[in-house]
Amino acid sequence: MSKAQLMEKIAGKVGVCVKCPLWRDRRNAVPGDGNVEAAVMFVGEAPGYWEDVKGLPFVGAAGKVLNGLLERIRLPLEKVFITNVVKCRPPENRGPRPLEVTKCTSLYLNRQISLIQPKIIVALGRHSTAYIFSKAGLEKVESITKFRGKVYEVSLLGLSVNVIPMYHPASVLHNPRYRDKLEEDFRLLEAELEKRQIT
Ligand code: URA
Ligand code: SF4
Repeated sequence: MSKAQLMEKIAGKVGVCVKCPLWRDRRNAVPGDGNVEAAVMFVGEAPGYWEDVKGLPFVGAAGKVLNGLLERIRLPLEKVFITNVVKCRPPENRGPRPLEVTKCTSLYLNRQISLIQPKIIVALGRHSTAYIFSKAGLEKVESITKFRGKVYEVSLLGLSVNVIPMYHPASVLHNPRYRDKLEEDFRLLEAELEKRQIT
């Protein structure tokens, strides 16, 4: 089976999953979207309103911010894979709970990472960074501010990966001051791509 077919198979399982309570309120599960051959994987937190409606990641207001940032560094969507820690929308967009994160990642995100074998993982927001860091055996992440702005070489699921933690794109919607920091972090990503000759 090709990588794309294996990813389709994972997506099929996500679509009918009832392994944690988040399935109850969803309209559509959101397995992820993009290129399975990508060197860069973006991992967000959880689907929001529009993602739940459309079954696709980052298609609402936060997605608009993310697309703008990707355009600035001329990294087309077709060259990345985008997904979330949990695949179903939590009620009222609350943060995913520890048991939901453990269940969903063990079934899906970990398999997606193992399949894609990305060189770079961009962790969007605290939940995503906390999960990736814990899986890589790094210190506990309570606030993203302490960790953003740097590249971390980690061993994750047996892979050697560079993790770049960033503020969540939605943070810009609540506070425009975060935009500068996010743009700075995207320039860091751009430099990393150049360094590794990933285009
Ligand atoms: N926020 C996320 O974390 N993920 C999405 O897919 C959309 C908004
Ligand atoms: Fe299954 Fe994940 Fe959805 Fe929970 S969030 S129901 S584990 S796909």
